[in-house]
Amino acid sequence: MSLSSSLAIPSNLHVLSASDPPYKPLHNHPSLALLSKCKSIENLKQIHSQIIKTGLHNTQFALSKLVEFCAVNPSGNLSYALSIFDSIEEPNHIIWNTIIRGYSLSSSPILAMDVYIHMLLSGVEPNSYTFPFLLKSCAKATATPEGKQIHGHVLKFGLECDVYVHTSLINMYAQNGELGNARLVFDKSSFRDAVSFTALISGYISKGYLDDARQLFDEIPIRDVVSWNAMIAGYAQSSRFEEALAFFQEMQIVNVRPDESTLVSVLSACAQSGSLDLGNRVRSWIDDHGLGSNLRLVNALIDMYSKCGDLSTARRLFDGLHRRDLISWNVMIGGYTHMSSYKEALALFRQMQQSSDEPNDVTLLSILPACAHLGALDLGKWIHAYIDKNYHNLHNTSLWTGLIDMYAKCGNIEAARHIFNGIEPKTLASWNAMISGLAMHGNALGALKLFSEMAIEGFKPDDITFVSVLSACSHGGLVDLGRQYFISMIQDYNIIPKLQHYGCMIDLLGRAGLFDEAKDLVKNMEMKPDGAIWGSLLGACRVHGNIELGEYVASQLFELEPENAGAYVLLSNIYAGAGRWENVATIRTMLNDKGMKKLPGCTSIEVNSVVHEFLVSDETHPQSDDIYKMLDEIDSLLEMAGHVCDTSEVLYDIDEKWKEGTLSQHSERLAIAFGLISTKPGTTIRIVKNLRVCGNCHSATKLISKIFNREIIARDRNRFHHFKDGSCSCMDYW
Ligand code: ZN
Ligand code: ZN
Repeated sequence: MSLSSSLAIPSNLHVLSASDPPYKPLHNHPSLALLSKCKSIENLKQIHSQIIKTGLHNTQFALSKLVEFCAVNPSGNLSYALSIFDSIEEPNHIIWNTIIRGYSLSSSPILAMDVYIHMLLSGVEPNSYTFPFLLKSCAKATATPEGKQIHGHVLKFGLECDVYVHTSLINMYAQNGELGNARLVFDKSSFRDAVSFTALISGYISKGYLDDARQLFDEIPIRDVVSWNAMIAGYAQSSRFEEALAFFQEMQIVNVRPDESTLVSVLSACAQSGSLDLGNRVRSWIDDHGLGSNLRLVNALIDMYSKCGDLSTARRLFDGLHRRDLISWNVMIGGYTHMSSYKEALALFRQMQQSSDEPNDVTLLSILPACAHLGALDLGKWIHAYIDKNYHNLHNTSLWTGLIDMYAKCGNIEAARHIFNGIEPKTLASWNAMISGLAMHGNALGALKLFSEMAIEGFKPDDITFVSVLSACSHGGLVDLGRQYFISMIQDYNIIPKLQHYGCMIDLLGRAGLFDEAKDLVKNMEMKPDGAIWGSLLGACRVHGNIELGEYVASQLFELEPENAGAYVLLSNIYAGAGRWENVATIRTMLNDKGMKKLPGCTSIEVNSVVHEFLVSDETHPQSDDIYKMLDEIDSLLEMAGHVCDTSEVLYDIDEKWKEGTLSQHSERLAIAFGLISTKPGTTIRIVKNLRVCGNCHSATKLISKIFNREIIARDRNRFHHFKDGSCSCMDYW
């Protein structure tokens, strides 16, 4: 039966004569009084049987109370309500309306319409309590045609002047994006209170018409806190934080007291705009008004502090909570990930796993990037298994994309591919994650092949896709293809190149030694090159021994990033490569005078689900003695295999012996040594380094993979290296 045909109003409709007994005496009946304390459906069934025993079930009043509890109360149960409902011979208005209301609150609100049709067919006339819930259902189900039919009924039954019905109509149209109709209903009526204004304002806000919303707001005769909240939330959600915060201050000036929703919106605006000062003031307000233990507000505060970078205050608030909910965990874990404190994010997630709280998709989306960053493959796999077990039909495709990214960044590109192949339907983000993964792993041709498949499937690449495509070309040394894609991006796809695209191109040209072309590109950029671009060009100058350009590029870099010791080291390496030791010495003095330290290299490795981090010459690990023993063994085996240390890349030292010492203690060496002693023979060793791997460690690792018969997968700042049988997947081009 189609809804539209059945929505014709039956001609035999008549108002039921109110023949129910007077209700008053029943109000205080002990069985019904129990309902107000009822907390569970089991409890309710007991009350129900008591009601039957006492014969109360013969009154519509008692039944309506029962139905109301089951249909509306959060600890109720709509199907139980329906079973009671079905047993009632001639349900009255109140009971019909309650069932409609129950559906409007349920996850299938559109079924409220079926109930309404049955109500009409059984000859019960709808009243002013029926329509608000029906309209709410239509809004929730985005059912505009049904909403319009209900509007017709409202007019036929002459209820358009009822305040609640009127506001519900505006709300239904506004929420379904029918602003014209919402406005029409609004304009037709002579009474305009803050509620009807706010319903319309919310519609404008959800369409992004904030300035129209603002105009309406100014017309409200007497504004209530809800109308202020609508505006503040609207500004906050549209990233217009200044205005959100200004509204918050203004509402206090006109003596409207903020409520929980106001404060949550304001804190979210502070979080997103990094307004720690105002955030602190909101916190004082919360404390002064005795709201310091309101969980929703504390969660919002934790979120605000962590997004503003004050993780320790956020953590203190989190630790101080007597009762935590899922949101508390999510904001704290998300805060750590947001601030790149990945280790802390993982540690807190472990704590959550030991608590009674179960993670949801938001938690997993925050923890996956932490796994990806640290190379925590075991935990990543656990999350994958968890998703498989708990999300049978996963609608959140971001989770799949997060898994692809995690597997790719943890070095397991096959697993990433497997997930990618299983995603149906694919999204642009999932294509991007897979192409980027292949590029990172140096599989340039694979990445480009996937790119053309993507186009065949009808997906339009965006600027993120092209960053991956160009970096694939750069890692693979595919100069001609890189040029073609760069031009195609601009001409065929109308994408204006951003810094990262230029970065990839300049990197590609520089590595190939095409310095004139690289310089031309730098000159013709619409924006100023950043440190990364100069840095990659300087790296290319080192590889090709281009001193003249190297000096120029270094001077640009020194100006842009005076604290970047890495630039000085690179220039010094260029001089060292040419045997210009005087220049090397000058740079060393400069570095010492400025008291600059090179960003310390740091490598992490996950063993038995625990992430271990190593710095250069690190002796803090509990198994340090064994690690250094292994390191000595590796060194002598390397020497026997004919490995010669290339010391030209080292800066600070004069003593050759010491130089060799620190070289073999680079953080990745320590991590590999630890991996060798703590995993079974033949196990793949996966490490993640924060800097680019040095030439020495690269050739040493190649040999180690052969000597110990281990596959070593290393991620450095730029890409992956798969070391196997004495060679590396990057073909020494990185
Ligand atoms: Zn090294
Ligand atoms: Zn390599």
